[in-house]
Amino acid sequence: MPFQVHNTLTKAKEPFRSLQPGLVRMYNCGPTVYGRAHIGNFRAYLFADTLRRWLECSGLEVRQVMNITDVGHLLDDAEEGEDKIEAQARREKLDPWAISRRHTEQFFADLKDLGCLPAMVYPKASEHIPEMLEMIDGLVAKGYAYQVGQDVYYEVSKFPRYGRLSGNSVEELDAGARIDVREEKRHPADFALWKSDPHHVMKWTSRFGPDGFPGWHIECSAMSRRHLGDRIDIHTGGEDNIFPHHECEIAQTEAFTGEPFATYWMHTKFLQVDGGKMSKRLGNCYSLDDVRAKGFTIRALRFCLIRGHYRTPLNFTWDILREATSVLENLDDLVVRLRRTQAGQSGAASADAGLDEVGDAMAEFRAGMDDDLNVPRAIAALMKLRSLSLEEQLGSMAAAQALQFVVNTANRTLGCIQVEESSLGTEVEAKIRERLAARKAKDFARGDKLRDELVAMGITLEDTAKGVIWKHKASGAGGGPIA
Ligand code: AMP
Ligand code: ZN
Repeated sequence: MPFQVHNTLTKAKEPFRSLQPGLVRMYNCGPTVYGRAHIGNFRAYLFADTLRRWLECSGLEVRQVMNITDVGHLLDDAEEGEDKIEAQARREKLDPWAISRRHTEQFFADLKDLGCLPAMVYPKASEHIPEMLEMIDGLVAKGYAYQVGQDVYYEVSKFPRYGRLSGNSVEELDAGARIDVREEKRHPADFALWKSDPHHVMKWTSRFGPDGFPGWHIECSAMSRRHLGDRIDIHTGGEDNIFPHHECEIAQTEAFTGEPFATYWMHTKFLQVDGGKMSKRLGNCYSLDDVRAKGFTIRALRFCLIRGHYRTPLNFTWDILREATSVLENLDDLVVRLRRTQAGQSGAASADAGLDEVGDAMAEFRAGMDDDLNVPRAIAALMKLRSLSLEEQLGSMAAAQALQFVVNTANRTLGCIQVEESSLGTEVEAKIRERLAARKAKDFARGDKLRDELVAMGITLEDTAKGVIWKHKASGAGGGPIA
C-alpha cells in the first residue's frame, strides 16, 4: 500500500504522489514571533517534522520551508486591531524588531531541543516584501484585487473556488459578517493584501503609499512561491489555519499563477490542556521551560506530542506526559535488550528464532506510518517487538534485524528513542557486580555505599529472582538481570 494522506481539500485519504518524482515540496505555516511558542504550537510543528521524516525514510527528498511571521498578523484574524508584534512591543516598551528577533531565536532553540530536523529555509515575512508586492500588483492587474485609498483588498467573489477548502461559501460569509465591517470593502469577506497605517513601526513604501505593510495571508503565498515555486506538494498548519488563512492563500496563489497551489493540505487538530482551550488567563500555555521545571525531559515531551494521531485532538495533562515518559523508557529499554540479545544473551532456541515475527512488526510499523501517519499504530508494532524480547523469543539474528530497524527506520521517524549505546551501562553494571560481591562477602557497609552511589547517578535497582534489574530514571536506559 503506498503512503496515504488525508487531504483537507478533498476530505479524503489519498495516495501520495509528488509533482516531481523523488522530490517533495512542503510548506509549513510557522510561528508569529510575538511571544514564546507553546506546546500546542509545537504539536503542529512536530507533525510537520514527523511527516518530513517519514517521507525521507520512504526514500524521498524533502524541501521543507517554514515561515517566520514577523509582521502583518493582526490581533484579530478578521483583520482589525493591532499587529501582534507591535502590540507586544508596546506592552514591553521595546522596538518591535527586538521582539521578533528575540522570539525567532527562542523558536529555533526550542525546535532544536525538540529534535526537529532543520528546514531547508525559514523565510522571514519582513524580508519578502518585494515578492508580496509583485503578487499584489499581479492580482490587481488581473482584476482579483482592488485598491481603496492606500489599502488593497482581494475580491473573493472573483475567485469561484473560494470556500472549497474550508466549506464556507461567500454567501454564508456575507450573512454572518459583522455589522461593523469596514465600509471600503466591496464585500465583507474581502480580505486585505496590503494595508496602510502611518502609526505602524514596521512599514514599507510601495506604489500604494508610504506607510504600508502586508496582510498575513499574502506572506505565505509569496514566501512559498519564492522558495518552492508556483506549485507545491504539501501545505500544513494547525486546524485553525484552514480558514481564513489557507483559504485566502489558495485564492491568492491560484489567481496569480493560474495553476493549482498545493496538492495536499494537511492540518493538525488542536492540543488542549486539562480538557480545555489553552489560554494565557488560565496560565496553561506551557513552554518548554515549564515542562523542564516540572522535571520532564523535552525528549519525552516530543514523544508525548507525536504519539497520538495528528487528526485526533490531544488532551495534554502532566499525567499523560508522565505516562508517555514511561512508554518511551520501554522503547529505550527495547534497544538495550535487542543489543544484548544480538550479542548472544538470549534464551531463544536458535539464532533465527523470531525472524518472522520481527518481519511482521516491521511491516506493521511501516503500514501504520503509511496510513496517514498513524503513529499510534506504528508504536504498537514496536511494543510487539518489546514483548518478543521480554519473553526471550528472539534469537541473535532476529534481534540484529530488529535493532537495525529500530535505529534506522523507527527512530529516524520518531526522533526520540535513546538508541546510542552509552558507557553508562558498563559503569553501572560494574558497580552492581561489585555490590553483589560485597554483599556476598557480608560487607554490607560497602554494599550500601555502592547502592547510594548508584542512586546518586539516577539509577533505580530492583532485586528479582533472576538477579538485579536496573534502570536510569532520566533516560529510561537500563539492563539486567545481573546475578
Ligand atoms: P500562531 O503563532 O498563532 O500563528 O500559530 C502557529 C501554529 O501553531 C499554527 O499552525 C497554528 O495552527 C498552530 N497552533 C496554535 N495553537 C495550537 C494548539 N493549541 N494546538 C495545535 N496547534 C496549534
Ligand atoms: Zn501561513
